[in-house]
This record gives sequence, C-alpha cells and structure tokens, in this order.
Amino acid sequence: MPRAQEELLDAVRLALESAVVERRYPLAGFTRLADRLAAAAGEARVSLAFRNAGGVPTGELRLRADVVLNCRRCLGPLRRILESSSLLAFVASEEAPVPEDHEVIAGDPERVDLAALVEDELLLTLPSFTAHRADEECVAAAKGAAGGGSEPRVPERRRPFAGLKDLLKN
Ligand SMILES: [Zn+2]
Repeated sequence: MPRAQEELLDAVRLALESAVVERRYPLAGFTRLADRLAAAAGEARVSLAFRNAGGVPTGELRLRADVVLNCRRCLGPLRRILESSSLLAFVASEEAPVPEDHEVIAGDPERVDLAALVEDELLLTLPSFTAHRADEECVAAAKGAAGGGSEPRVPERRRPFAGLKDLLKN
C-alpha cells in the first residue's frame, strides 16, 4: 500500500502569509490507521490555517474523514465520521514557549510533514469502543431480540464484511 504522499510544509513562511492549506488524503495511504479500519476506503479532508502568533508559527488543523469500522458486538461494518480540530504550534523543541492551548509539534518548523500530522490526529480521534447504536442495524442485537432466549447458543461463523459492499456504495 503506498504511503500518503509526503509533502513538507514551511510553517514559518506559511504563517507569515496567513496561508490556508487544504488537502485530501486517501485513507489507504495511512498504513497505521488502515490497520484499525474495516476498510481503507474513503479520504480525509484537511484544512490547516496558519497564523503567526508573535513570531511562533501556529496553525488550526481541522479534519474530517468517513471511516468504516467493525462493530465489536456483531463484527459487522459500521460507518463513523471522524472529526477533529486542534491548535498546533510548530517549534524546534518541546521546551519552546507556545501560545496557550496549543499542542507542541516539535521539529523543524520549515519542514512540517502534514500527512504524518493528519494520520496521528486521526488515530487520536478513533473511538476506543465501537458498536452499532440502537438506531442502527446490529446483527448481535437483532438476534438477541428474535431468539427470545430459546435458541441454543452456538458459536457461529460471522461474515464481517457481508454488508460492506452496500455500505461503500453510498
Ligand atoms: Zn453490530
């Protein structure tokens, strides 16, 4: 699987220009993230609005991605939208002073790897437990309701990707 295309941004210059960088990344390019998804389909939409905060290059990173996860109960696919917004400060060292409420991104501020930042942020945004909600179709819940407790509890082979094709069509 190809990595998301690396692109090093000069945060110092972009902050002075108050530039807004917008990108779309296919989720399949994020290998660490793809391991946690039921399907590495779709893309992440990203905008990073740079600002110069008293000499410190900062940026507001907003991202949104439609992902397919596995339900922990029925193992079937379920869609979730990952969204996040964070304030970042691009500085050379962890100890550098940054504006309040900003997350330190330590490294060369003239060479910021946006794709890596986005993947880290998406991983942080992933819910730790995923299961179908009451208003969604969960195979496990449906079976519990229909069975009425009379059926013997036999472990079954599940087909976790059975409904996936239909989901991805939308
Ligand atoms: Zn389910």
